[in-house]
Amino acid sequence: MTHMAYIGLGSNLESPVQQLQQAVDRIASIPQSRLVAVSSYYGSTAVGPGEQPDYVNAAVLLETELDAHTLLDQLQSIEQLQGRMRGPVQWVPRTLDLDLLLYDHEQIQSERLSVPHPRMTERNFVLQPLLDLNPELCMPDGRSLSSLLNQLPQNGLWKL
Ligand code: AMP
Repeated sequence: MTHMAYIGLGSNLESPVQQLQQAVDRIASIPQSRLVAVSSYYGSTAVGPGEQPDYVNAAVLLETELDAHTLLDQLQSIEQLQGRMRGPVQWVPRTLDLDLLLYDHEQIQSERLSVPHPRMTERNFVLQPLLDLNPELCMPDGRSLSSLLNQLPQNGLWKL
């Protein structure tokens, strides 16, 4: 059975655009899956405490025969492959974040997986790329992403 998986990408590495492009290429070669569409890339101001470089965010739509946990395995191995850069002395923190945002209209709660991604409705840098892929997209509970986005501040997000 084919599933529709929406995946969020984020990086604030020095060359985050290239980081995301490479991640998109790798997502396109996930087995038993087909990359359907890629959103625009957006710059966003880092949230949370402390000084951090701006992020680049995007989202993709993947048609997949994989179940959600197997897909998460694939995403985590891509994070492992490129999310760590060999520094001069030691490994630096992960710089690629891949989130399984939506998987059909399913709600999934397990030790490893919460779908829809719990904080996505509060983040314009997640909702805007998803709406590029599908302006009609809704949460499993029926809330439309476009109305959720309209309720959020529009600052800290710009199209690249
Ligand atoms: P983070 O470092 O914030 O990317 O969190 C990674 C952890 O979140 C991993 O241990 C995942 O198992 C867990 N996780 C829970 N739900 C999701 C999801 N929808 N997409 C990706 N990771 C998830």
